Amino acid sequence: MRVIMKSYAILLIVICTVLMSGQAVAEKPLILKPNRVEISYTKPQNPAHQNIFELLKERRVLERFRDYLSPLRLPRTLLLKTEGCKGESNAWYEDSDHSVTVCYEYIEELQSNAPDKTTPGGVTPQDAVIGPLIEVFLHEVSHALFDLLKVPILGREEDAADQFAAYLMLRFDIDFARHTIAAVAYMYGREARSQKLELERFADVHGLSAQRLYNILCLAYGADQKLFADVVEKGYLPKSRAEGCADEYKQIYYAVEKLIYPNIDEAVRKKVQPKKLLRPVAQK
Ligand SMILES: [Zn+2]
Repeated sequence: MRVIMKSYAILLIVICTVLMSGQAVAEKPLILKPNRVEISYTKPQNPAHQNIFELLKERRVLERFRDYLSPLRLPRTLLLKTEGCKGESNAWYEDSDHSVTVCYEYIEELQSNAPDKTTPGGVTPQDAVIGPLIEVFLHEVSHALFDLLKVPILGREEDAADQFAAYLMLRFDIDFARHTIAAVAYMYGREARSQKLELERFADVHGLSAQRLYNILCLAYGADQKLFADVVEKGYLPKSRAEGCADEYKQIYYAVEKLIYPNIDEAVRKKVQPKKLLRPVAQK
């Protein structure tokens, strides 16, 4: 009987230990693996978004982002999706289910803000949609990576997401990088001209459009002073800011090398050749 009692006591201790350590078991380290990006084109409710939905699928936009991001070793699945947002023109990262959403309304807005013909700065109507679309995905993916990889951030997270997105765009092939950056600058420039500067604007977590414009031009110029020489020559970026742009770019390069690159699976990266994957398909 005493032996049985003793066995019960041991069993009780084991059960208590298991119960108490339940949380610890649930929090065991997650395994980092590549190929963890999934995609979804949600069917739009608004018939006006049908064309955008079909165009995105036809151009395999989400597949390209998935392939581009596939070398990243992530602890969980990251879902990239496009969907209708009940009239809201927006994009965001949701940390409760690790998903990035870009609204059809946002793409619709990009289309309606595109110039009728190529701008003096060389931005084509097509660039004006593709550039900011790439930027918004990369910006939201930046938030996702900061969260999933527990990247420490000094300064504002919105600035860090802008900077990482710009850094990635600047690593595209030269010609494509130039078109993408110019298109994003066009968007910010357009927004800046119409943005009213009420005091509340300064409380926003995002920089003002004019600041985001100068920031991206500075990083571009800092990354390649030959390719983006005209940015300073034509006065798009003041010389006073331009002087320190190489250092600004270096600072971001260092942070990305330290914090993000160790999470890239080289074997997968070599297979997908990410630089080429976001190029627009030739127009028919
Ligand atoms: Zn953001």
